[in-house]
Amino acid sequence: MAPVTLAPSPITPTVDFDRDGVQHGFLRLPYSRDDSAWGSVMIPVTVVRNGSGPTALLTGANHGDEYEGAVALFDLAQTLTADRVAGRVIIVPAMNYPAFQAGTRTSPIDKGNLNRSFPGRPDGTVTQKIADYFARELLPLADLVMDIHSGGRTLDFVPFAAAHILPDKDQEARCFAAVAAFAAPYSMRMLEIDAVGMYDTAAEELGKTFVTTELGGGGTGRAETIAIAKRGVRNVLRHAGILTGAPPADGRPAEAGRWLDMPSADCFRFAEDSGLIEACVDLGQPVRKGDLLARIHPIGRTGLAPSEYRAALDGILAARHFPGLVKAGDCIAVVGTVED
Ligand SMILES: [Zn+2]
Repeated sequence: MAPVTLAPSPITPTVDFDRDGVQHGFLRLPYSRDDSAWGSVMIPVTVVRNGSGPTALLTGANHGDEYEGAVALFDLAQTLTADRVAGRVIIVPAMNYPAFQAGTRTSPIDKGNLNRSFPGRPDGTVTQKIADYFARELLPLADLVMDIHSGGRTLDFVPFAAAHILPDKDQEARCFAAVAAFAAPYSMRMLEIDAVGMYDTAAEELGKTFVTTELGGGGTGRAETIAIAKRGVRNVLRHAGILTGAPPADGRPAEAGRWLDMPSADCFRFAEDSGLIEACVDLGQPVRKGDLLARIHPIGRTGLAPSEYRAALDGILAARHFPGLVKAGDCIAVVGTVED
């Protein structure tokens, strides 16, 4: 097959990634539309560089309704000074910026789910153009890639950092070492329902050390989970040798919390009915195989029995559907198994 030559990305950075010091700017993506004929999407970016050394690429709001990463990274961008850095930190607090501005998971412009849009296209939709720029321009600059997710408006999670089982065991070990360094209350060996098109997969296929998280949800951030994100980002940068100096007194806990695993698709429970969900277990609580996780009450009339959803394995409730009403097909619960 002849190699495919892609057009250059239409995105122009207003920062110079090779210059020392702190620069705040934008990834400018031309987007011609009714209210702005020659307009652009302006995605905020900060680069902090100090000499040679490894590069970390840090992103939040890959999904626009997930807030811990955005808060932690807007804060880091505003406070990180070059004298604390050995190497380079590239910070994009709101990766899918149109979705972030709208407070929605996907982009209001093209309905694009950025984390299902990789490797993207330089001549595609706005979301595909963002994916293409990260895949071809930013990921190759990075040694360490951290993408901070939460549950968004429809899911809620126990706070964990995570990596995936990978074919390259050296790379996998680097990823899990970074997960441990993040030192969230939980650390997860994560199984994806559908890894095609994910930023994670694009980064992993380039051999990068990749860490992701799920730090709460419900379409907001909590003081506890924001603190975990702020501390975890600095912990991983320190682990990579990019952030120098002593950690603050409120720095990292001694070690990562409990390790969780998602050994098979049995972890997931999907609604087969629509209706009113009755949670029977809260996040973090232990469950045994066969335990009731949730009931779904029909809401069209009274007098009907609820349907029951039970755990298929022993573990803890690691994620749950957040809104009180569910539709058939919604993910209503995830059970993570606890490693010894
Ligand atoms: Zn997400």
